[in-house]
Amino acid sequence: MLIRDITRLTDCRHGHLILINEQGIADNGDGGVLQPVTRWPEGAMALGYWYQTPVAVLFVEDETPWPAARDWLSRLDADSFALVSTALQVVRWAHDHRFCGRCGTRMKRRQGEFAMECPECRHRSYPRISPCIITLVTHGRELLLARSPRFPAGRFSTLAGFIEPGESAEEAVKREVFEEVGVMVGRISYFRSQSWPMPHSFMMGYYAEASSRELLIDGVEIEAADWFLPEQLPGLPPSYSISRHLIDNFLHSIAWY
Ligand SMILES: [Zn+2]
Repeated sequence: MLIRDITRLTDCRHGHLILINEQGIADNGDGGVLQPVTRWPEGAMALGYWYQTPVAVLFVEDETPWPAARDWLSRLDADSFALVSTALQVVRWAHDHRFCGRCGTRMKRRQGEFAMECPECRHRSYPRISPCIITLVTHGRELLLARSPRFPAGRFSTLAGFIEPGESAEEAVKREVFEEVGVMVGRISYFRSQSWPMPHSFMMGYYAEASSRELLIDGVEIEAADWFLPEQLPGLPPSYSISRHLIDNFLHSIAWY
């Protein structure tokens, strides 16, 4: 597993390495992302320890067609998912914060933490994490599932959206559900969370019990939505996604397999 402690890795230049480019993530020749222990090249950023061995990520400026990040995430176990998720977000953060957002000066990396600091005005930037809610709306045994125009044909999923400034997660659940499908929800309960590095979302999963049933679809983010019985489900999201975990856990809770 990944131990996210970089405070003692300031001078470390040796360990596993993950190579990322614009195309994806390099295979180590054995179906994994961890390159054998090696001396880290200039620009490698320590992520912590993979079990006891230091691990770093390096962004490589080339066009080699490495497997896409999404493909990796779809087949990694939970521990490796967390490692790859961290590597992708750290690379994205370093790339997006090369210059100070306040005064435009080139930023410098602070040692021992994930922070960039402006040498002129001392403004600091940390990896951006965007909190989102994702919710399965239910009514009795029925599941409210919707599809975005971006989904593969036939797939329906739970509803999701970003939390807005000043908003609680529960308020975001109520607002998103109403905006996207016109349904009011009553009781809301927390399920679990998942980091989603596409590019830096933090998904907080909730169940929401509908207090109205009529659907009014926004037609932009959502192109179709419906109530589904467990016996008549459409195509569902992939098994590694929190939306699928929400759906599967609900089906188990009503003893439907
Ligand atoms: Zn500055």
